[in-house]
Amino acid sequence: MAMTIERLDNDDQERDIRVVIGKNVLFKLQLKPSPFHNNSEVRKLIGKDLVKRENFEKLKELVKLNKKIKEIISLLKNRKDQIKNIIAGSKGQRDDEFREFIVQMEKKGNLNNWEQFVMASNQMGEIEKFFDLTLISKKYFCFCNSCHSLIEEGGIEVPTDCVICKNKITRNSNVYYNFLTDEIEKYLDGDWLSDYIAKAFIGKEWKVWTNSYVMGNSGIPHEVDLLAINRKGFTLVGECKTGTISRKDVFTFSTKCSDISNTYACFFTAEKLPEPTTREFMDKTGLKYFENIHTKTEENFFLEIFEDIPV
Ligand SMILES: [Zn+2]
Repeated sequence: MAMTIERLDNDDQERDIRVVIGKNVLFKLQLKPSPFHNNSEVRKLIGKDLVKRENFEKLKELVKLNKKIKEIISLLKNRKDQIKNIIAGSKGQRDDEFREFIVQMEKKGNLNNWEQFVMASNQMGEIEKFFDLTLISKKYFCFCNSCHSLIEEGGIEVPTDCVICKNKITRNSNVYYNFLTDEIEKYLDGDWLSDYIAKAFIGKEWKVWTNSYVMGNSGIPHEVDLLAINRKGFTLVGECKTGTISRKDVFTFSTKCSDISNTYACFFTAEKLPEPTTREFMDKTGLKYFENIHTKTEENFFLEIFEDIPV
């Protein structure tokens, strides 16, 4: 059969799009770039047994520590700006005395934050060692040895003295700390699950796409975590979630699935579904769900996926 594919609009680049034709369906896929495609360490991580509780928890912890580091940095920055403004606003003979008073007042808070910052950075390094991968980036931060103010972030020049307490800044204040890029943090915060589950389907020689958009019957593109097609043209769409699930998530998924017809739909959730009625709803509407998956072993979980799929 001859087939012509015409361009409908100029919104999409050809390289981002694939058209997949199954036995009964035609999908227009819009592929989203992901760290899985451009980072080999991320691909190695996905190769590991990530439903294993210990690995699952470590991954969650890594993201939590990174978020904490970002919070502390923003706290230190705000505090530094506040003190700078107070000092700049003070006039008269008692400037030095006033500065000393402010610095002493803030020192304790800074020290506490600084210690938490160092601890979180070190813990991130240990998790990276645990996985034996390079997922973490390093960034230069300069702290004052005396008042622990965050002096500079990301630069290469060491300033000569602290803008807050005026003490000399030494080379020792110039340290590299661990952090995750926004892209990696977002991926490790949940997006990884679809690539991980894709392994099960790839193992059975299905063709799989993760994090793409699929056009529904309505013409509206739906974001789909997982799309898998086997050799017979049997298609499956999957939603994969690592965080807490709400009732709304279940219903949104159901609406999406009814617009993408002719597919088998599975909901994969690391945590438990929110309430018995959501399970009942999924059973009655023919949606398959796998909940609490991090309590299983990879082998059992992957076997379980194919137990109920009618192929
Ligand atoms: Zn200082």
